[in-house]
Amino acid sequence: MRAEHTLRVGDGAFLVDPFEPAYLRVHRQGGFASRVEAALRELADCHACPRNCACNRLKGETRACHTGRFAIVSSAFPHFGEEDCLRGWRGSGTIFFSLCNLRCAFCQNWDISQKLEGKECGPREIAGLMLLLQERGCHNINFVTPEHVAPQVVEAIAEAVPLGLRVPIVYNTSAYDAISSLRLLDGLVDIYMPDFKFWKPETALRLARATDYPERAREAIREMHRQVGPLKLGPDGLARRGVLVRHLVCPGRPTRRRQSSSGWPASCRPTRTST
Ligand code: SF4
Repeated sequence: MRAEHTLRVGDGAFLVDPFEPAYLRVHRQGGFASRVEAALRELADCHACPRNCACNRLKGETRACHTGRFAIVSSAFPHFGEEDCLRGWRGSGTIFFSLCNLRCAFCQNWDISQKLEGKECGPREIAGLMLLLQERGCHNINFVTPEHVAPQVVEAIAEAVPLGLRVPIVYNTSAYDAISSLRLLDGLVDIYMPDFKFWKPETALRLARATDYPERAREAIREMHRQVGPLKLGPDGLARRGVLVRHLVCPGRPTRRRQSSSGWPASCRPTRTST
């Protein structure tokens, strides 16, 4: 097993190579089969996200996210619009999933998140996309809007790793995630990139139709932080492991922003802003 060495420079945010993605340890220990079994159990009585619809997605039933047995992929490409530590100079290997478990009034990807556009892909097809993006030189595989297809993400990673996947996995999420789904991803994801959108339930209801978003997102980000800790960069400036929070700033709501920056573990406080 390769050792991971941490260089204590400044705030200790740098990780010295050699680095290996977390999922290789699970692979060596033969842990994928049980993860996939648990992922399928989640789909059979769906509690893959906080909506807890309890439908049988293995039989193609759908509810709030309109997604059945298989994930729908809208696009996959090297993305140069992500944060510097993800896009680097060869791009972040982005896989955009269609549909969503939230209904954000301000969604910048509305055509992807609310319309059924894209191609239904099984785990082997998604694994093929991951390997293609790796071959193209992308620094990581970046799953965008994966909350409602977290079990399918587990299946895809389990397919891709034995076929040669070796770049870090980024889980790029609204943070409206079920803790059970995040536990399935424990040891598979290197970098969690959650949004934090709303502090107040009434705002979350009005703008995303999810009253419990603030509570669920806080729980989810704490679980992510428990798994991977604060963000660590390699000597090349690329993210290797940790949590990177994107903090939504609503126009005219600076108070909310100050509020949501407090009450977090110091190493888990929002470090980025977006509008
Ligand atoms: S993933 Fe979809 S079906 Fe499952 S609980 Fe969430 S919204 Fe409902």
